[in-house]
Amino acid sequence: MNFTDAEQLASQLDASDTLASLRGQFDIPDGIVYFDGNSLGPLTYRSREVLTRTIEFEWRERLIRSWNEDWLAMPARIGNVLAPIIGASPNTVTVCDNTSINVHKALMSAVALRPDRTEIVIDINNFPTDIYIAQSVADQNNLTLIAVPADRIIESISERTAVVTATHVDYRSAQLLDAEGITLAAHSHGALVVWDLAHTAGAVPFDVTALDVDFAVGCGYKYLNGGPGAPAFIYVAPRLLDTASQPLQGWWGHEFPFEFETSFRPAVGIDRYLTGTANVLSMKSLEAALEIFSGVSMVELRAKSQSLTTFFIDLFDAFLAEKGFSLGTPRDPESRGSHVALGFAGGKALVETMAEQGVIADFRPPDLMRFGCAPLYNSHMDIVHLVKMLAAR
Ligand SMILES: *Cc1c(COP(=O)(O)O)cnc(C)c1O
Repeated sequence: MNFTDAEQLASQLDASDTLASLRGQFDIPDGIVYFDGNSLGPLTYRSREVLTRTIEFEWRERLIRSWNEDWLAMPARIGNVLAPIIGASPNTVTVCDNTSINVHKALMSAVALRPDRTEIVIDINNFPTDIYIAQSVADQNNLTLIAVPADRIIESISERTAVVTATHVDYRSAQLLDAEGITLAAHSHGALVVWDLAHTAGAVPFDVTALDVDFAVGCGYKYLNGGPGAPAFIYVAPRLLDTASQPLQGWWGHEFPFEFETSFRPAVGIDRYLTGTANVLSMKSLEAALEIFSGVSMVELRAKSQSLTTFFIDLFDAFLAEKGFSLGTPRDPESRGSHVALGFAGGKALVETMAEQGVIADFRPPDLMRFGCAPLYNSHMDIVHLVKMLAAR
């Protein structure tokens, strides 16, 4: 294969891409090819429009009346828009805080539901914030944190385990964890699971209902494109919603926040996972960006994502394998999420140079370059452009 062949192939694949028109919903600057949607999704035209209306009308004109007219209902409303993306039923997802805080709430809820247990099991390669939070939850509850590689999670679960937590798509390698096996193993030992869907939601199908997951959390600003600092989400299985408590009791999680009672009574259902005032502007941006997902099936998104990452790996074999790059992502498309990682000594400097030339990716120490292949806006031709630049470095 030479680059002319690669371009021809990319043109064919892009021409038969049923999601190709969605690229037009994103305001990606001319001259930029964006491969970092796994860290920060790009701006949508719809978010800009909704934010402008929120500022000019809801905030400037309606002022405090907007809370009752719209804003108070947002966490639950946006939770219901997000729910189908992770296979959740209505009124089981809410949108609030950030992923770190939601991991904390979910883990504290889980250990409170298993008071006789002494251990938390975590993927040792989990994103660091998840590990820090799990360690703090373990410390606060006198539990032992058992940190093991993903392929040893199942054998590490026992009658001592209160909760198992892991991220479905590894943030470095894009390796997909065995969500079904791990969830089943946890349940068979009477333990609960908290899945972090930070690199899943919006790019990789996940079905919290079919898997009978207990808790799930994830980011609003990665593949969901909610904007910098967009709120995260939290899912709690309906069977737990009446009994679970969360540690950050605040007025937004009260049954009747506007009665200003001095004692806390948790709201019915998922609302009890709220704590304080919503970040309205970020919520609005996320809600607007989520509109793109209506009418798009997760099956289509997954097929496109796999087509992009497979094409990337084919080009890696043809052009990059012999130039000092190594593949850091599973070759089996069923075993990987939506980004491709390449090992490269000097990757940090290369990512910086490429950004100056309009191709944006990211870098994770010690030597991993990451390329998010977002099915909503990346094309196969974007990948040819990227690989050409990498090959010419
Ligand atoms: C991106 C990411 C986070 C980010 O957490 P914040 O609290 O939103 O900063 C957490 N966990 C995982 C697995 C992530 O990939």
